[in-house]
Amino acid sequence: MASFTLHGIPVSRGIAIGRAHLLRPAARDVKHYLISEDKVEAEVARLTDAIAAVNRELQTVRRDLPADAPSELAAFIDVHALILADPIVAAEPLKIIRSRHYNAEWALLTQIDELSAQFDEIEDAYLRERKNDIRQVGERVLKFLTGTASTFPTSSDPHEELPQMIVVAHDISPADMLQFRDRAFVGFVTDLGGQNSHTAIVARSLDIPAVVGMSTASTLISEDDWIIIDGDAGIVIVDPAPIVLEQYRDVQSQLLRERKKLGKLKKTPAVTKDGTRIHLLANIELPEDCAPAIEAGAVGVGLFRSEFLFMGRTGGQHRLPTEDEQFESYRKAVVAMKGRPVTIRTLDVGADKPLDKDEETALNPALGLRAIRYCLAEPQMFLTQLRAILRASAYGPINLLIPMLAHAFEIDQSLMFIEQAKQQLREAKKKFDPNIPVGAMIEIPAAALTLPLFIKRLNFLSIGTNDLIQYTLAIDRVDHEVAHLYNPLHPAILYLLHTTIAAGAKAGIPVAVCGEVAGDTKLTRLLLGMGLREFSMHPAQLLSVKQEILNCDLDQIESQVKKILKTFDSAAIAEGVERLRTL
Ligand code: PEP
Ligand code: MG
Repeated sequence: MASFTLHGIPVSRGIAIGRAHLLRPAARDVKHYLISEDKVEAEVARLTDAIAAVNRELQTVRRDLPADAPSELAAFIDVHALILADPIVAAEPLKIIRSRHYNAEWALLTQIDELSAQFDEIEDAYLRERKNDIRQVGERVLKFLTGTASTFPTSSDPHEELPQMIVVAHDISPADMLQFRDRAFVGFVTDLGGQNSHTAIVARSLDIPAVVGMSTASTLISEDDWIIIDGDAGIVIVDPAPIVLEQYRDVQSQLLRERKKLGKLKKTPAVTKDGTRIHLLANIELPEDCAPAIEAGAVGVGLFRSEFLFMGRTGGQHRLPTEDEQFESYRKAVVAMKGRPVTIRTLDVGADKPLDKDEETALNPALGLRAIRYCLAEPQMFLTQLRAILRASAYGPINLLIPMLAHAFEIDQSLMFIEQAKQQLREAKKKFDPNIPVGAMIEIPAAALTLPLFIKRLNFLSIGTNDLIQYTLAIDRVDHEVAHLYNPLHPAILYLLHTTIAAGAKAGIPVAVCGEVAGDTKLTRLLLGMGLREFSMHPAQLLSVKQEILNCDLDQIESQVKKILKTFDSAAIAEGVERLRTL
């Protein structure tokens, strides 16, 4: 067979190499037939028994969860048990058997299809994906009915080595995933699923390479095919050529070696050789991202990009999340971080993050009604978000971060709205942290050049290098034709970074960097040498940055960084930064 490559959604990183084990969906093999009147009650009993059996099985799986099972699993299994107990799933198919004389499997599938169609109408992407939970529950019952409940290769000798296996399925339920734990299971590929599917969430927490949303993988891949999952690129290579296999094996062993080493640093405090403590924080987009953040050893959330709660809510009329919906998400994040601070940035929509895909955009959207400009133009929406954030601050430490500020009056107006939101909550007798720290993103050059305006009015600063570079160098960050000009080491950027960090230190207010620069290990020493003590990044980058910090002696690098900051020659800067890494 010729080798071929399939593309899907990367949901869990790393490389897995193994033989395919296909989980055939029982739904595909279901027989449809009509039953005679005198057999109706026996058919009803057959379905009732199957549902009871699955119920017992879920209870057993739940009770026997291994101590080291990902914490989400218990919750997901509870969700499945609840679905199974719902009359709409358990009782409706019985009615269908009685009224239409369908066999049990057909009746169950009819009801599941009906429910799935209703879920397709739901606007909320997370809830819409829960349709798969109903399908997965139905699938388990079908497996009992058709007698195909156990589909895993088993070994009679527990010590016998099974070949490394990659599960390929149309879909996998979280409870099914548990069965993989003690086997030579190294990755999985599914036809269904998205970033928010439970399988994706569990795969990430199990730290197993996975690609989902591959649409036809389970029909194109055959049992025992050799496959490679590249979980970073979101591709699956089926029956790879020996040379490709070799290359991937090399990359895999290198990654494993690096990860193993880094994994040991999770609990190690981020302290430089000379004893300076550095705060490593996480950038998150949804409350669910808190678990990987803690897992990676983050001491807090440095940037919660709240706009992800607002985006992609089209489907007819655009609907903004309500105050309660937002409050729930913010509270969830705060609770998940268990006392570690969570910096929530107020809505940063516009430019490359339109609220609504179909929205008409301005000629220069990056220079248009974006972020705080948009919020100040929509006071009711802004107040709603501020109340939601403030209410969540009663459950744990929150810092409020305002994006794209450039003018003193924008700071004043933002603070006025925060005061107003507090007043509204006081009147409604709702709790909040009255001393919630408020900070500004420094991401417009004008802000970086007028820092006293910010330092006087605010409690902390966070440098958004992604936009600071875009606006300083006048290059659209999403335009690939000018991507080669996007240079964090441009002397103008170094100047703005350095002066902002120094001004914060002088005034005694915290300064963080939360743009991509913070997670780039090539720049860690440079930023440390400038005086940066708070780095916020994607959790996956955190341990590599920590390693840089642990190996760095500030006394050794500071004079070298001073030299770099004095030059305008880009070759000398690049060389200086390279040299820093050898110190
Ligand atoms: C930034 O601009 O650097 C930043 C962190 O915010 P965003 O990437 O969301 O604009
Ligand atoms: Mg920004």
